Amino acid sequence: MKRKIFRSMCLIASLTFILTSLLIFFVLYGEFYNSMRDEVRKEAIYVAEAINGSGESYLSSIKDTTLSRITLIAADGTVLYESDADASKMENHLTRPEIASALKNGTGESTRLSNTIGKQTFYYAIRLDNGNVIRLANTTSSVLSVFMRCIPYFLIIILFMLVLIIYFSRWRTKNIVAPINLIDLKEPLSTETYEELSPLLLKLSKQNTQIDNQIDELKNQKTELDSIAESMNEGLIILGNNGIVLLANNSALKIFNAKPDIVIGKHVFNINRSMAFRTITERVLKCEPAEALLTLNRHYYQLMATPIEKNSNVTGAVILILDVTERSEAEQRRREFTANVSHELKTPLTAILGYAEIIKDGIAKPEDYPRFAEHIYAEATRLIALVKDIINLSKLDEGDLDTVRETVDLFELSNKVIDTLKPFADSKGISLLISGEHAFITGVRQILYEIIFNLCDNAIKYNTIDGTVKITVSKEAKGILLKVKDTGIGIPIEHQSRVFERFYRVDKSHSKETGGTGLGLSIVKHGVLYHNAKIKLQSEPGNGTVFEILFPN
Ligand code: ADP
Repeated sequence: MKRKIFRSMCLIASLTFILTSLLIFFVLYGEFYNSMRDEVRKEAIYVAEAINGSGESYLSSIKDTTLSRITLIAADGTVLYESDADASKMENHLTRPEIASALKNGTGESTRLSNTIGKQTFYYAIRLDNGNVIRLANTTSSVLSVFMRCIPYFLIIILFMLVLIIYFSRWRTKNIVAPINLIDLKEPLSTETYEELSPLLLKLSKQNTQIDNQIDELKNQKTELDSIAESMNEGLIILGNNGIVLLANNSALKIFNAKPDIVIGKHVFNINRSMAFRTITERVLKCEPAEALLTLNRHYYQLMATPIEKNSNVTGAVILILDVTERSEAEQRRREFTANVSHELKTPLTAILGYAEIIKDGIAKPEDYPRFAEHIYAEATRLIALVKDIINLSKLDEGDLDTVRETVDLFELSNKVIDTLKPFADSKGISLLISGEHAFITGVRQILYEIIFNLCDNAIKYNTIDGTVKITVSKEAKGILLKVKDTGIGIPIEHQSRVFERFYRVDKSHSKETGGTGLGLSIVKHGVLYHNAKIKLQSEPGNGTVFEILFPN
């Protein structure tokens, strides 16, 4: 803009100067020429008067005093006298327009350009009283030759003026632009500048306010979106239509173990290149909602991708990542449990069916009936125990417990368990002992009973003849401690972490022999979790086992 103003100013100033100079030149030239003609006319009248009065000899007396060329021409056109040349050698002048006009009208004038000298000659002729014609002529340089002569002066002036114009234009341009440069674009109305710029500054100020409001609104929306995204447990990724990541919340970054700087603004495949991830991304960017299951670091994630559309064009996509590990594992456990249950139920049922068939077909001898009946009874008992344990476990699994929490005395409850198990312990010559004090916790009596019962039942089942089972209930700083200690066969270290799994048995045949279902410790574990308690197992093969449950205060 500065350059434009500067150039325009230079151009206008130069044009003005040149045109003014030309105008002055032509006006002055015209004035000069007119005055020269007037001089010639006056001088001709004066000379004509003088000749009419004192004869043609007057001409020789003024020969050296006049600047004009004087010619005396006879009425027939013969040149009688010529001040600047030899009159006898001159041709007849009758055809000269000024002579012809003077002979006819008394005066005549004419202007002619001499091609040879490039000079303009003005002739003025007057008819004398004696019929001859006196003619005066004077020359001036032609416009062109005067102009040509003036060119060097013009050039010097133009050069001088040009320097002046450039300097002035630069200074003026700077002055014009300075207030515009001083405009504070953030606060346009606070600047004092040209009145003509007021509407523009007003508009600018309005637009600034509008832009500020829009930016504030966008910032608020972004903060809102960010805080929603960050407070989500689910992973959230927002993509642009070209697959570039616009937003990835902390959960998403954590899931994919990625850092924001290598994810935001980069293609989504930088996050994960698995088949599942690539497929849903490609589909969603083609405007198709997509879902997939992704396995990553032993976790299961459900990927749900939804396209963002505008006028049936994809403008982006949202990918939601849900951690479904627990659900998947629970489903897996349930499937395994169902398979195990079917298998466990099948075994006693097959045995019962076998014995019943032998009796039905009359193959068995009558003396074998009691033995077979005993087997059927034992298998049926095992079946009932199994079904009971399965039901208990399912209830704990589903949280489907219609029992209410109440204050329970663990010491008293342990005594009840001992009463129940005493005949069983006696049958194996095992002593059941209890020590400690009354200790109350808030819990579900039935579940707590199952816990103590299963632990004691195992302690008897996996004990040695004449062994001991000791229950201790004590109040500790951290809570109430229930300890079941036996002098039994113990659990090898490599099995200790697995005995709480469903249907896990260290020695399958021994467990079955003793009527074990493989579910006792699973029920204990669930019961303990239900009461927010912690269970600890210490055991050494041949040296017995101790189960400790701490019910926190
Ligand atoms: P089970 O019905 O077979 O006893 P549990 O779930 O109660 O099933 O126990 C799982 C396995 O842990 C048992 O089969 C047994 O091998 C082992 N076990 C449990 N308690 C004891 C214990 N007190 N002493 C030795 N082994 C034990």
